Amino acid sequence: MAHQALEVMTATHHKTKPDPETLQFGKTFTDHMFIMDYSSENGWHSPRIIPYQPLTLDPAAMIYHYGQTVFEGLKAYRTDDDRILLFRPDENFKRLNRSSDRLSIPDIDEKMVLEYLSELLKLDKDWIPTYEGTSLYIRPFIIATEPNLSVAPSTTYKFMIILSPVGSYYKEGIAPVGIYVEDEYTRAALGGTGMAKTAGNYSAAYKAQDKATAHGQAQVLWLDSSEKKYVEEVGSMNVFFKIDGEIITPSLSGSILEGITRKSIIELLKSWGEQVTERRISIDEILNAVREGRLEEAFGTGTAAVISPIGELSWKGEKTLINQRETGSLSRKLYETLTGIQKGRIEDPLHWTY
Ligand code: PMP
Repeated sequence: MAHQALEVMTATHHKTKPDPETLQFGKTFTDHMFIMDYSSENGWHSPRIIPYQPLTLDPAAMIYHYGQTVFEGLKAYRTDDDRILLFRPDENFKRLNRSSDRLSIPDIDEKMVLEYLSELLKLDKDWIPTYEGTSLYIRPFIIATEPNLSVAPSTTYKFMIILSPVGSYYKEGIAPVGIYVEDEYTRAALGGTGMAKTAGNYSAAYKAQDKATAHGQAQVLWLDSSEKKYVEEVGSMNVFFKIDGEIITPSLSGSILEGITRKSIIELLKSWGEQVTERRISIDEILNAVREGRLEEAFGTGTAAVISPIGELSWKGEKTLINQRETGSLSRKLYETLTGIQKGRIEDPLHWTY
């Protein structure tokens, strides 16, 4: 894709910003959005920033029928000295291209898209909340737009970026959550789309989330689809366990999403001289470790919460308490280090912020 000049059409009407103390996730959007188009003749073209507005699509647009779409999620933070920081945005655009490849969607120029995002953020800078724990959630996504009911990749697409101010995940400090280990539904099979951030993976998880909620638990823990034995992920998070001093996270099997928080935690732990193992870990191994008092900590990791400690596991009608009240020292140290780097409050030794 040749470098293309960005067209900017600014909004004449500015929306009222939400109260930063009561912000919810993904419900309000900023004044502008980024959009560009793809056609097989012209590739990605016409990059533009326009006032935030609804789309008009043909009802036969392929996104509505066969779900050819990918997305990303990252956050912008405003520092105490009023800079805008992104956390490893290059990793998000690389992952977007990996997801696109899996869905037969043409790739984007990662560097150029980061420049477009930066321009969008400068324009909507006042929407980045500064209240403790808040940030601006960034949602880049691609949809197939060709009006055609054939089951085949679209020849036209739209790439968009929308921005949403989001509240603090933890209002009263990081609290452990209850987890329901799902033994009926699975999230992704080997060779499927589990490693891609694509819409169908998420809507296919709603039934299991309903079960977790009905059992009084906050999140679903997914097991592998063939044996229903090995741990994969927790809701929209990767997962870590500390057993006998060893920090374990499920290896990237192809059915797990390669989280950027996961990758950062592994790199950070290694830089601290900790032992981290990426391997298969079964639910039995975890429950045995709890029973024998060898499980020191368990936590989910992702952009939304950063670290989410696991307080309790519910498996085949039985509840196993891990840690209901306190947050483990490793979880706390990781949370404080990552959020400190993201907010530009502490040194960034691995050069992650942009
Ligand atoms: N797994 C799934 C299924 C997810 O949707 C996410 C959120 N992107 C993650 C893990 C965590 O990834 P990240 O650390 O990049 O947010």
